[in-house]
Amino acid sequence: MFRLPIQIITALLLFCLLPFKAQALSIDDVRFGVHPDKTRIVLELSEAVEFKTFVLPDPYRVVVDLPEFSWRVGSIEKPRGAVISNVRHGLQKPGISRLVIDTTQPVSLRSAFVLPAAAGKNNRLVIDFEPVSAAAFTQSKDKAFGRLNSGIIPEAPQEQTATAAVAVPPYKPTPSAQIVPQKKPPYKQVKPIIVIDPGHGGQDPGAVGAGKRREKDVVFATAKELKAQLEQTGLYEVRLTRTTDKYLKLHKRVEYARKQEADLFISLHADSIDNPGVRGASVYTLSDKASDKQTAMLAARENQADLIAGVDLSHEDKEVADILIDLAMRDTMNQSKFMANTLVDTMGARGMKMLPRPHRYAGFAVLKAPDVPSVLIEMGFMSNNSEASMLSTSDYQRKVASSIVDGINVYFSKVRKNNRT
Ligand code: ZN
Repeated sequence: MFRLPIQIITALLLFCLLPFKAQALSIDDVRFGVHPDKTRIVLELSEAVEFKTFVLPDPYRVVVDLPEFSWRVGSIEKPRGAVISNVRHGLQKPGISRLVIDTTQPVSLRSAFVLPAAAGKNNRLVIDFEPVSAAAFTQSKDKAFGRLNSGIIPEAPQEQTATAAVAVPPYKPTPSAQIVPQKKPPYKQVKPIIVIDPGHGGQDPGAVGAGKRREKDVVFATAKELKAQLEQTGLYEVRLTRTTDKYLKLHKRVEYARKQEADLFISLHADSIDNPGVRGASVYTLSDKASDKQTAMLAARENQADLIAGVDLSHEDKEVADILIDLAMRDTMNQSKFMANTLVDTMGARGMKMLPRPHRYAGFAVLKAPDVPSVLIEMGFMSNNSEASMLSTSDYQRKVASSIVDGINVYFSKVRKNNRT
C-alpha cells in the first residue's frame, strides 16, 4: 500500500520541478549604452544561455528570444539620444520568452554575443545595433545573431539523412503573447556550421616546395575533399572561405566565419622550413605567446599574407578588440584547444606523421574570431620533398580529410553532450 503515495509524490515532485527548471533563467538588469554610431543593450542574465536576436518592421523593433525567463529588472532608464521607445517582454511559447525593444526608426543589428560571468560581473548578453535607412533595413532585416535550439540534438554523429536531422518546431505565436507575430520562423536547422579556410590563394602561393608545388593548391584541394567528406555525413553545414584560387585577406576570412555564425573554423596550411629533413603535421591554436621561436617565425610568415597586400595587421576592428580581452575569448580558446587536441589524436590514429608536441600555440591572425572556436592545421612540410609530393596526391589528401572528419565528429559529440546538461 506504499506504492501509491510514492507514485503521487513522484508525480508531484516532477510537476513542481519542471516549472522550476524552466524558470531558472532570470533577467536581472537591462542597461543601454548610446554611442555616436551604435546603441548597445546589455542584459544581465542569471545564466549564460543561448539566444536569438533579429529585427522586425511595423513597428521597427529588435527582438531577443531566450529560454523562458523571469523578469527581475526594476525600472528601465531609457537613454537619452537613443532610438529606443519601449522595452517589453512576454512568453513567446512554452519554454521561450521574448524581449522586444521598440525603436523609433529602422535599425540594423551589428553584433550580439554572450559574455560568461567573470571577475565579479554577471553573465551578460550584449547586443549592438545602429540606426539605418528604411532601404538599408530591408536589405539587412534577415540578419540574425545567435541560435536558440528547442529541438532535440542528436547524441552522437551517426549516419542519417538530412530529413532525420533535428526538426525545429515551426513558429507558432501563442494567443497570450502580447507580441506581434512575425511571418517567418526565426529558427533554423541546428546542423553545426563549419567554415574551412584554405590558406593563401591568388597572388599569394604560400610555401613553395620541390617541383614548384604550391601550398595554396595543396590546401585548396584538401579543403574541397574535406568539405565533400563532411557533407557526406549529413551532419554538418560546410562552407569554404574561398572557392577559387583567389587572394583573401586574413581578417576577411575571420569576418566570413563570424558572419556565417560558424561553430568551428579550420584553416588549412602546409609549412616550410630551412631544414628539408623536418616533416610532420601540427595543429595550432591562438596565443599571445608562441610555443617557441620556430612557431613564432611560422606565425609571422603566415601573417605576412596580409602585409603582402599592404594591410596593416596592427589595425583591428575596435569592437573585436574589445571582445578579445574578455572572457568570451577564453571560452572560445578552451574549445579551440579541445578541438586541437582531438585533431592531434585522430590525425595520429589515421597514421599521419605528427611533429613532436603537435599541439602548438601562436598568434595567427586568422584564428582571432572571438566567438568561433578556431584551429589552424599545418598538414606537413612543403620543404620536405617526400612530404610535399605526398601532400599533392589525392590519396593522401583523402586521408588527411578523413582524419579531420574523425576529429570533428568527436568534437561535436562532446559539445552536444555538454550542451544537454
Ligand atoms: Zn600557410
